[in-house]
Order: sequence, then C-alpha cells, then structure tokens
Amino acid sequence: MKINTETIIKDNNPKIREKSEDVKLPLSAQDRQLLMQMYDYVDRSTDPDIAEKENLQPAVGISAIQVGVKKKMAAIIVKDSDGNIVYGFALVNPKIISESVEKAYLKGGEGCLSVPLNHEGYVYRKKRIKVKAYDALTDREVIIEAKDYLAIVMQHEFDHFKGILYYDHIDKDQPFKVLDNATCIE
Ligand SMILES: [Zn+2]
Repeated sequence: MKINTETIIKDNNPKIREKSEDVKLPLSAQDRQLLMQMYDYVDRSTDPDIAEKENLQPAVGISAIQVGVKKKMAAIIVKDSDGNIVYGFALVNPKIISESVEKAYLKGGEGCLSVPLNHEGYVYRKKRIKVKAYDALTDREVIIEAKDYLAIVMQHEFDHFKGILYYDHIDKDQPFKVLDNATCIE
C-alpha cells in the first residue's frame, strides 16, 4: 500500500468515523508491514524534499484507519528542530491506563492528515497520560508516561480508533475559550 496525500482517507469519507479493533498478537507479518509503512510515512513526511517529491503531508502521527484499516495501530514520531527523533513509537493496541485531571492544548490548534480544511480553536487534552501498548519498534510491551505535546499527539491518534476527529472537541460557540487548569503548549 502506498501511503501519500492521495491515499489517506479524508473526513468526507464515512470510514474515518468507524471504530478500530484490537490487533491480534503476536503481530502478523501483514500488520507489521503496514505499521512500519505508517511509521516510515511519518518519518519521511517531515523531510521537505522527500515530502514534496512523494506528495506527503507533514505529520507527527498516523493511525491505521487513515489508510482504511480498522485496527488499533498508530505510528508517532516527535522530532526536535534539527530533525532528530526525540520520540518514536509504532504502537499496537495502546490503552490509556491513567490520566491527569489537568489539561493541555496547543496554542496553534491541531491538524490532521484526514482533515483538509483548517478548524480553528483549542482542543483540550489530558496534560499527562500513562499508556500501555505493544511497541513494534522494540517488540515489547511498553508503559509510556507522556506529557504535554507527546500526550496531545497520542490522544489525537487514539481518538482515531474511536472515529473521533480533533474538531469534535472544539467548542463551537467559544473556540478559543481558555479553561482554568490548562497548560498552553507553544
Ligand atoms: Zn488525525
């Protein structure tokens, strides 16, 4: 499967609202291949030259439903300003096992490979989450304690498993309403 801007499912396709299912472990060769392709997409998408040549929209994460596969798999890569990978995960069946009351949001709002139109407004997420998953990169069960930006990215991706898009969380009447007890992430 070729993953690029053309093949990624957009929000005008009802499939993006479908719920994803647990993946059978040990990971089948097919599932692993797809997840690695997703990881590769995210990694390559942030290289401007490759992105232009291969028609890739820059991303920090992608979920399998975005390529039409209803499985709980997500690839996430957070890089520093020099392009080095700070966090890289190829997650299978991730589950949030605990979360903070405190919230966090991105100052510039969120974006999504499946949402071509920009929806302005703050998306409030949990500031800290603890995630249990199988990580196909290291081939082991992992517990990830994520906060701030990484936590936001993870919650965005895991929402895709439930058919939820980021703009579902935006307050339609007051999109830039600032909540108490929420950290603004630049
Ligand atoms: Zn998304």
